[in-house]
Amino acid sequence: MEKRLIIFTDSGDTIVDEGTEIRDEKGIVVHADLIPGAGETLRKLHDAGYRIALVADGEEQSFANVYREHGLGDCFRTRTISEIVGEQKPSALMFRDAMEKNGLTEADKCRIIMVGNNIRKDVTGANRFGLTSVLLDWSPRYGMIPENEEQKADYVIHRPEELLELAAHLECELEDR
Ligand SMILES: [Mg+2]
Repeated sequence: MEKRLIIFTDSGDTIVDEGTEIRDEKGIVVHADLIPGAGETLRKLHDAGYRIALVADGEEQSFANVYREHGLGDCFRTRTISEIVGEQKPSALMFRDAMEKNGLTEADKCRIIMVGNNIRKDVTGANRFGLTSVLLDWSPRYGMIPENEEQKADYVIHRPEELLELAAHLECELEDR
């Protein structure tokens, strides 16, 4: 059965380890490793009935290549990609596109989390748009110290696996309403 909680997720340094990316001459990612535990977590969340939407900055072909390589392409119900949308996070256009692709309205925002590693893109974008923000601070590549209120995540996790417990907890809260 489908869960009530809906998961929007970033890709780079949230699922994919950006430090391992190999790009072709056109700048398209042709190989990348996943963050330890991220692939298993994505698969478990999907199999548990959570709807998962990719909301990521980059090229459509890069994401296609990486998720095909790891056999996870089917985990995403929809894909919102900046190359197609024409703007990057924290632009509201990215989140609105994901909402529209999933047939979600304003009333659904309370059951959507946005998971990402970047406080200026993922967390700020989600907070401004009215979604619940979840920061994964596994990667040291970007600063994790909020400089203002909208960079502060509602929840912080340190490893991908922690999302399983957090999602279950938030799902319980939604069911209790
Ligand atoms: Mg990222």
